Amino acid sequence: MDNNSKKRIAILGGGPSGLFMYKRLVESGKNDFDVEIFERKAQLGSGMPYSTEGANNEHITNVSGNEVPDIVTPMSEWIHHAPEELLKRFNIDPNKFNDYKVFPRLLFGEYLAAQFDMLCKTASKAGINTQIHFQTIVADIKYDLKSNTVEVETTDGQIKEFDFAIICTGHNWPKSHEGKIPGYYDAPYPPQKLIQRLNHAVAVKGSSLTAIDAVRTMARHNGSFEFDENGGLHFKVLPESSEFKIMMHSRSGMLPAVRFHLEDSHLSNDSLLTKEEIDEHRKNNNGFLSLDFIFEKNFKEIFRERDSKFYEQIRDLSIEEFVDEMMELRERLDPFQLLRAEYVQAEKSIKRQESIYWKEMLGVLSFAMNHPAKYLSAEDMQRLQKVLKPLISIVIAYVPQKSCEELLALHQAGVLDLIPVGDDSSVEPQTEGGILYHFTDESDKKQSVYYKTFIDCIGQPHLQYNDFPFKSLVNQKAISPARLKFKSNEAGHTAFMQNKDTVQKDEAGEYFMNVSGIAINDNFQVIDQYGAFNKNLYIMAVPYIGGLNPDYSGLDFCEAASLQIVQDLLQD
Ligand SMILES: Cc1cc2nc3c(=O)[nH]c(=O)nc-3n(C[C@H](O)[C@H](O)[C@H](O)COP(=O)(O)OP(=O)(O)OC[C@H]3O[C@@H](n4cnc5c(N)ncnc54)[C@H](O)[C@@H]3O)c2cc1C
Repeated sequence: MDNNSKKRIAILGGGPSGLFMYKRLVESGKNDFDVEIFERKAQLGSGMPYSTEGANNEHITNVSGNEVPDIVTPMSEWIHHAPEELLKRFNIDPNKFNDYKVFPRLLFGEYLAAQFDMLCKTASKAGINTQIHFQTIVADIKYDLKSNTVEVETTDGQIKEFDFAIICTGHNWPKSHEGKIPGYYDAPYPPQKLIQRLNHAVAVKGSSLTAIDAVRTMARHNGSFEFDENGGLHFKVLPESSEFKIMMHSRSGMLPAVRFHLEDSHLSNDSLLTKEEIDEHRKNNNGFLSLDFIFEKNFKEIFRERDSKFYEQIRDLSIEEFVDEMMELRERLDPFQLLRAEYVQAEKSIKRQESIYWKEMLGVLSFAMNHPAKYLSAEDMQRLQKVLKPLISIVIAYVPQKSCEELLALHQAGVLDLIPVGDDSSVEPQTEGGILYHFTDESDKKQSVYYKTFIDCIGQPHLQYNDFPFKSLVNQKAISPARLKFKSNEAGHTAFMQNKDTVQKDEAGEYFMNVSGIAINDNFQVIDQYGAFNKNLYIMAVPYIGGLNPDYSGLDFCEAASLQIVQDLLQD
């Protein structure tokens, strides 16, 4: 960058991450930079989940207005200026808009687009030049080591040079069999493809929010929901879909937990470990962050004052014992019975605005743990993934009330059921169409069930280093695969002998476990194959950084990561 000129900043992808990145720049109080935004679509802000790429009218957020991080105007204010057509479409009376309720994702997408517009106006007033390239796809990115600049190449053949670029290209759902095997869907998105009359059983892999999206769409096109005189919801299947049934397949046959009132709407807590405390702990622990330490300080300790009864209950439990205890109840009860009980409990929590505190704190723990997760040992990352993550993903799914009501109505109508499957289950696509679902049933018998329609609903997969879309960066060795060091050489050696594909030994004889995606530092800067971070290139695209940030997603992530990046990027 020449000393007299402004910094040239590129935001690659204009979804929610790009929106928060832009907001941070616009509100930085500085204007010594120009911004260019590259967006594949014709609209900014809505990204994948809040546009027709990820939602139909029936799909809702799992956050309420008060839980959306600040952008420009709150949802409750914007709704009064929302286009008439939108309000009509979603049957919303702005004067009755409830900031504590979830809302349609497509409506939210329009809100995000409007926020982008407002930010552009603010930027212009502040003397920040913004150039937006709509319907422009970034095809490749190169790094010029000599000039420390980033080259952005678009599919229309243009190449532009920037001092800084932030990769915000977001979700990516790779296709394996969809389009080749009739009736096989790699993901339920875009959901329009599930608008089908189905007179047979459908297999859904997974039972979390992605699966619930698929269930809500298919149910609407094969029957209808009706309220009885007491306000109870019922489902009536269409005569021509009399054989329609949805079989969800989930690990241990569990459903995710229901959304409740959050005491702190932004997943934080004053007692969380500070960066300095984490650094101090790492100094005394060979650079590693201990999972037990985080669990102790960012979870258990919080209850000492707040809920001494719960604290006594968990004080002496290890992570493994805590998870066992919390899962035990879920395993024991019928999942739909538990869903009903949790629904009642969550309704009370929302009505009284009282949190279900341990669940809220588990969400806080999960969020707070992500940023420093790159300092976990390989052993602790395995424990996190195998032990704690299954509980966290069930508890922090925050299934909205409306979705629960529909799941219960479908189950009651005999249209929705859950099949517990274990790690040995597999899905075998059939060339003539459909799949065979192989699993071991509850009486230990091997089963292979044919389904004409199959939808993979496990959610956004963590993508691998080899999936990284901007190949010049790979070829230049400007990025590197994410990996974590084993704390114990002995454990590393054992893992290495078992699986040389995922465990590596370096020249110094130390062992590393490959985790998914690419390596980044604390400022979300990419790390090259020689271990140096790139001062000019940042990444917020969650699918490619999932190995070191195991549970990052959502608007809270967009808010937190963009702050970290802008503080680094705009420092003098
Ligand atoms: C179905 C679904 C529902 C969700 N619901 C919620 C919710 O209710 N609450 C919540 O907090 N979180 C939710 N999330 C989490 C969600 O991940 C984030 O809220 C958010 O979408 C992440 O934004 P993003 O900009 O990183 O990615 P995306 O939303 O994927 O946006 C990426 C943008 O980049 C553009 N782009 C991609 N590639 C290129 C390219 N090569 N060139 C140019 N442009 C490109 C895309 O067109 C898109 O606009 C949901 C996620 C999913 C998948």
